[in-house]
Amino acid sequence: MNISRAKGTKDIFFEDMKIWEYVEENIREICLKHNMNQIRTPIFEDTSLFSRSVGNETDIVNKEMYTFLDKGDRSITLRPELTAGVVRAYIENGFSSMPSPIKLWYTGTMYRYEKMQKGRYREFSQFGIEVFGSESYLADIEVISVAYELFKKLGLLDKLVLRINSIGCSECRSKYIIALKEYLADKIDNMCDDCKTRYVKNPMRIIDCKQDKCKEAKQNLPMITDYLCEDCKEDFENLKSTLNAVGMNYEIDKTIVRGLDYYNKTVFEFISKDLDLAVGGGGRYDTLVEVLGGPHTPAIGFGLGMDRIILLLKEYNLVKESKNVDIYFILQDSNAFTKVFNLVEELRNLGYIVDMDICGRSIKAQMKYASKINSNYVCIIGDEEVKENSCSLKNMNTSEQVKVNLSVNDISNNALKGGN
Ligand code: AMP
Repeated sequence: MNISRAKGTKDIFFEDMKIWEYVEENIREICLKHNMNQIRTPIFEDTSLFSRSVGNETDIVNKEMYTFLDKGDRSITLRPELTAGVVRAYIENGFSSMPSPIKLWYTGTMYRYEKMQKGRYREFSQFGIEVFGSESYLADIEVISVAYELFKKLGLLDKLVLRINSIGCSECRSKYIIALKEYLADKIDNMCDDCKTRYVKNPMRIIDCKQDKCKEAKQNLPMITDYLCEDCKEDFENLKSTLNAVGMNYEIDKTIVRGLDYYNKTVFEFISKDLDLAVGGGGRYDTLVEVLGGPHTPAIGFGLGMDRIILLLKEYNLVKESKNVDIYFILQDSNAFTKVFNLVEELRNLGYIVDMDICGRSIKAQMKYASKINSNYVCIIGDEEVKENSCSLKNMNTSEQVKVNLSVNDISNNALKGGN
């Protein structure tokens, strides 16, 4: 019986893996330059972490979590997102006693039981950052700028639009929710069953609903931005004017409320202009650390979908050519293998991508393989070369061949990295 991958998962390998590595290298570099620290938290957590943070009435918690009892009868959930885990780690490891602000980043896999479609998987990866300890809109700018720089570096910036909104503080939201419920009171009977439940338990979730009959009822919905208190209004104005001043383009989208309960004030999303796809989103969550048992700590972060970033890079042909092997050593026999072993290591230390035969194949078969993997050079070591302590170095692109000493100097003087 053949066993296939579980539905909604994928294998990543060869060329695709190189694109992933390319994106991950850029993420690492940008985060380092922003003085951020990487964090890794467990893939599974106590289920209550997500119900308490993401929210019981959200689709993620209600419908999409991979939850199971472990052998000790504990309810465990594969993380559907990573903010909750990072906040738990923040509290559990006493980060609040460290110099603030604390700027963290991560990449990792998430798990949601969702309907499969383009760019939507059950196991997917996110790159995210979480910044703790700043109430200021300047932290919002810093967070958004990390995503902005990444997209710029990858050549995706003009393919995306940054949409921002403010969903205010709990005071703004309680006033808004009254207005929202009033507006929907005579419409809710004609809306979907999920919205009927949301109307009672978490009315703002109704704004996210994509069902046609609900869309109709929401045409003149009151907007949260009209209910912001003075503080939240000022914050949002400051955010917008600073984004303008530093040259980060955005649109205001009053319908963004985000699908998770813990957000307040600034929320934002990066949306693909051509494909109907959110590439990432985030926002402020000033109360979450407290809700999960820590001290009051304002915070803001985002999660970007890595699978979707890769999808866009491929869609727009923005993928950098992957590197080939620089030198493939073609070896007559195990004597030749022993002779070049340390030299190969030295070349690798100089930055060459070097490979050699590990199958004991014939010279002809090794040549064929080197050509198939597009090695830029081959370095042939037959009986004669072993005796002379030399090698025949062939440029596979020009077919030029020279005999040089079997030394790092001679080889590196005649073989250029990257095949140029
Ligand atoms: P969210 O945590 O729902 O705000 O999602 C943040 C980003 O993660 C989204 O904008 C997507 O790019 C990505 N994402 C969310 N769910 C999935 C999924 N099921 N498959 C692939 N990417 C996803």
